[in-house]
Amino acid sequence: MKVRTAENKIGEMQRRLDVYTVSHQMRKSLVRNKVLAAACKLQQPFTAYQLVEAANKLKISQATVYNVIQLLNQAQILHKVNRDTTREHAQYEIVAGRSYRIQICCSRCGRVATVKSSVLNNAVKAFKFNNFEMQRFSLFVYGECKVCREKFKQHY
Ligand SMILES: [Zn+2]
Repeated sequence: MKVRTAENKIGEMQRRLDVYTVSHQMRKSLVRNKVLAAACKLQQPFTAYQLVEAANKLKISQATVYNVIQLLNQAQILHKVNRDTTREHAQYEIVAGRSYRIQICCSRCGRVATVKSSVLNNAVKAFKFNNFEMQRFSLFVYGECKVCREKFKQHY
């Protein structure tokens, strides 16, 4: 069951990538699709390094992975979840078609966790935007994680 949903997701994302590449007059690329499939299989969100490791097993170079990340980002198939952090802490995730997600993000180390809250979900879904129809949302709450708070305590 779990595998089937992952396969469905990969198929859906590859179709989105096809639409993007065709509309931007780019060639379809098997390697790109492989990197995308590897990204879909990783636990979300993931770091570029985790994707590089997964792609290495498929004999795909680091440079290719970074290029594909950039392209997927432009195609809005993948996005960086913690925008404010440095590249080494950057975490990415595949953007599901219609998803509602709340994430907490540590401003110090960039760690990201997903939070389930029907209260917040319903509040955002119920909000009426002016001349704008919401399709999905991703809410980020910034702060300090437990690990960083404890580190901070030790220094002072
Ligand atoms: Zn932290």
